Amino acid sequence: NYVLDNMKIVPENTAVIQPNDRSYHFGDGVYEVVRVYNQKPFQLEAHWERLFQSSKKLDINLTVSANELTNATNELLEKNQVTDGAIYIQVSRGATPRNHLYSREETPIITGFTMNAPKSKQEEGISAWVTDDMRWLRCDIKTVNLLGNIMAKREAADADCFEAIMHRDGTVTEGSSSNLFLVNDGTLYTHPATNLILNGITRQVVIDLANKAGIQVVEEAFPKDVLDHADEAFITSTTSEVTPIVEFKGQVTATMPIGPVTKKLQALFKDLI
Ligand code: PLP
Repeated sequence: NYVLDNMKIVPENTAVIQPNDRSYHFGDGVYEVVRVYNQKPFQLEAHWERLFQSSKKLDINLTVSANELTNATNELLEKNQVTDGAIYIQVSRGATPRNHLYSREETPIITGFTMNAPKSKQEEGISAWVTDDMRWLRCDIKTVNLLGNIMAKREAADADCFEAIMHRDGTVTEGSSSNLFLVNDGTLYTHPATNLILNGITRQVVIDLANKAGIQVVEEAFPKDVLDHADEAFITSTTSEVTPIVEFKGQVTATMPIGPVTKKLQALFKDLI
């Protein structure tokens, strides 16, 4: 298996990650996960656009071009013969002796690897654990610093749930690694793309598909009580695509069927792929 090590494709066991890498010291880096269908990366431009935005928001001077990233991605997919799977690309601010104060002269280090396609839960749906959002106030940045997310995910798994749905002081934000949509009376509801959520690429694709299909979309924050009388609910993400929620547990208890709007969007998403 091959990996991307500082923009070079090398055998996995020869890759060298430096102990002084700032992504180890401070979680000082950003990343993207891109799904690969039939050897082709899905929504690649949108992922690069977000990677550049995340870098910019953190004042990381990402000097490679989207084209160079695309070439490296395609080469790695080819080397590892990925047909259906995913690719992870990470940008660290750089490697220098540990110091909270970053310099703007640092050279970013780009690494990456390929992954297998995840097992789909789109047919049966998932249970979701409702818990506090204890993350920072820049969740719009796709940083590798994911402690609030991984703690919520562990809590969910310990309660036999696939995903944690988080709320900040009673206002529902998103999943630990996904965006949340509710359906009520045929209308889709989701948190607006503010600093409190990651604006998922899948979220954007689903909103676009819904608009084109004449399904009304309301991007408004809603309180967690709304979860217990939703007609339908689902999460979206690069790896989960459109995965229905059939049960909320934890701070909200409710069950819901996999409804017609969710099924319609799953079908439209499949068509797009
Ligand atoms: N929200 C969070 C916190 C995430 O980590 C992710 C993806 O990993 C998403 C939302 C979904 O984003 P995307 O659809 O771009 O994968």
